Amino acid sequence: MNCLICATPYQTTATWSKLFLYELDSSTCGRCFEKFDISKSTNDFTDFLGTPYEGAVDSVFCLYTYNEPMKEYLHQYKFLQDVALAKVFAGKLQQVFQRKEGIVVPIPMHPEKLKLRTFSQVDELLKAARIPFQQLLTKTTSDSQGKKTKIERLKTNNLFEVISSTIEATNYILFDDIYTTGATIHHAAKTLKDKGAKRVDAITLIKG
Ligand SMILES: [Zn+2]
Repeated sequence: MNCLICATPYQTTATWSKLFLYELDSSTCGRCFEKFDISKSTNDFTDFLGTPYEGAVDSVFCLYTYNEPMKEYLHQYKFLQDVALAKVFAGKLQQVFQRKEGIVVPIPMHPEKLKLRTFSQVDELLKAARIPFQQLLTKTTSDSQGKKTKIERLKTNNLFEVISSTIEATNYILFDDIYTTGATIHHAAKTLKDKGAKRVDAITLIKG
């Protein structure tokens, strides 16, 4: 089969784990996949101490760093709208989510932005990995977080609302493509906790 990233033909290997653990194939050749850099850094939430978002997030786990190959992947996936690329990380995401227990909630796009992009890249990553999720949040503002300074982002009112009043006193796992300042994840987590969530962890594909 052909690699989703470089398009060259490659041999898929039938490994023990693929056969018995139903590991999903990434449809990516080894050379391309090796270029992604596993994130080893930990996230600290000191920016949020003394803000209304202090303690909203219990933990954040990021899989990869934002290196050049990842930037290229994200550009092709998000901006060139190549939805097939959602498969690249299916196996890895499946492994990571298997270790956590809770209701998976993807970070939503603003409806206007979704119209432009045509698909939600965050939801598609989960679908490719066959991870069940519930869309419980809606975005209340279309302001791009990227255009604001860090301080502005911390000060803004919460970016999210819950869609229904069905938040239970249980564990939730937020999922987003990239963790940069942490504002998005903190806002989403606080929204869930204010409605009664017991614990909110977060997983992101990339640490920005
Ligand atoms: Zn390749």
